[in-house]
Amino acid sequence: MTQRPSPSTGDALLAMRDATRVAHAGPAPRLQGGALNPPVHRASTIVYDSVEKYMARHQGLYDEVIYGLYGTQTTYALSNAIATIEGGQHCVLTPSGTSAITLALSAVLGAGDHVLAVDSVYGPTRRFLDEVLTRFGVAVDYFDPLAGAAIADQFRDNTRAVYMEAPGSQTFEMIDVPAVTAAACRHGIVTLLDNTWATPLYFRPLAHGVDISIASATKYLSGHSDVMLGALSTASDALYETLKDVAARFGICAAPDDCYLVHRGLRTLDVRLERHQRNARALIGWLENRAEVRRILYPGLESDPGYAIWQRDYLGASGLFGVLLDPMDMREASAFFDHFDLFRMGSSWGGYESLIVPAWPAPIRRHRPPPSEGALIRIHAGLEDPEDLIADLERGFARLGRARGQ
Ligand SMILES: *Cc1c(COP(=O)(O)O)cnc(C)c1O
Repeated sequence: MTQRPSPSTGDALLAMRDATRVAHAGPAPRLQGGALNPPVHRASTIVYDSVEKYMARHQGLYDEVIYGLYGTQTTYALSNAIATIEGGQHCVLTPSGTSAITLALSAVLGAGDHVLAVDSVYGPTRRFLDEVLTRFGVAVDYFDPLAGAAIADQFRDNTRAVYMEAPGSQTFEMIDVPAVTAAACRHGIVTLLDNTWATPLYFRPLAHGVDISIASATKYLSGHSDVMLGALSTASDALYETLKDVAARFGICAAPDDCYLVHRGLRTLDVRLERHQRNARALIGWLENRAEVRRILYPGLESDPGYAIWQRDYLGASGLFGVLLDPMDMREASAFFDHFDLFRMGSSWGGYESLIVPAWPAPIRRHRPPPSEGALIRIHAGLEDPEDLIADLERGFARLGRARGQ
């Protein structure tokens, strides 16, 4: 039986600062032949030298290497690292952020249960709730991201989980997370939060009462646009065991090569985020003075409705934000979007490169419809020099102006 790497270094690191934790968390060189980085252990079968140990192997399901599906040294090195950075005890890795979300919801909900999800939730999460979980007898409702403690008005006797995402997908509304988790806690309701935008460096879900912190590690944790991965972190032993059991039942397992890549990316998370934030703020400062711009959607901005919560609870803002422009037709949109030199168009974000995409058509919302009177676009500020990015945007606005005959 192979030992799970780390815990001792994990405990000391918990007391240290973020930049130190991202640099050191995870692998245990003494268990890796001295190698600093975790070797990539590709494994399905793990062999035993006695029938007694083989028969007892499942006792190690939660923290030992017993079968490839339940984790290898490479995956445990990363899950330990992420748990340390989240300030939690445990982490379960999945093959994508989406599978992390669907696993977490499947693990805590069952037939007859009711779940409340934030209205501004990531589109594919909403579709999983509406299209899949409802088929298994789960009642799904949405709450206003600005509800705060008033979320309790929507609690029913069978409400089992509250699902949050902050800031909101596409529209960037903030949630008063401590108010929501306090209300949920009083009713014994499990809380989950998709924290992909802030990462555990800029917001600590577990310290704000959230039971399961969700990350699409595809984004900032990896940071290089070349790998898919998801992570679920918790401080609860019971929730960890449930998540791990249900992952095993579904046969969900993160690939060691992918875990290695994310672990490599994690080392620079602190410095990358600093630059993403600086670049986002440089672009926003410039965009705010453009006549074409109606509104910027970014909770780290003083004029943003979510600023008070952001300032109270968050330690930084990342590189993704929304911009509401004057309406544009398809011809104008093509003139604007199709010819950037640096900004690229594509799904996902969190990598080193800057992205720009239209955020319309508007997602379906019950409580707080997204802005309908303009063209909402989404920008991810990458790691380039901000002056070059601004020049690229300036050329885009010039093309848009020409398309409008100005
Ligand atoms: C991208 C994203 C996801 C899904 O992650 P994948 O790794 O692409 O499956 C979930 N939540 C948010 C907020 C995201 O941006």
